[in-house]
Amino acid sequence: MAYGYCPICGAKGRTRERRPNGNDKCENGHTYPSRGALRRQPDKYEVKLRERDRTIAKLTESLKEAKTAIENLSTSLRVLHKELHGYKNRND
Ligand SMILES: [Zn+2]
Repeated sequence: MAYGYCPICGAKGRTRERRPNGNDKCENGHTYPSRGALRRQPDKYEVKLRERDRTIAKLTESLKEAKTAIENLSTSLRVLHKELHGYKNRND
């Protein structure tokens, strides 16, 4: 009760680190920032919603990484294409 509830599964917080910006740990072993602890126990529906939000956030992050990777690959291919084109012209 004293440490609030886990934002991941809704279980009670079991331990709290004694430092600024420390973490809590819930009865199910999840670690999360103490400031993210919930003041009241979430119902199953809210836990599901939070899970969905985390999944969406992860997917969004993966998409950003994929976009960057594709952009880098595209740049590399353009450079390679230019180099190959130059090589071809020198040997015609
Ligand atoms: Zn938990």
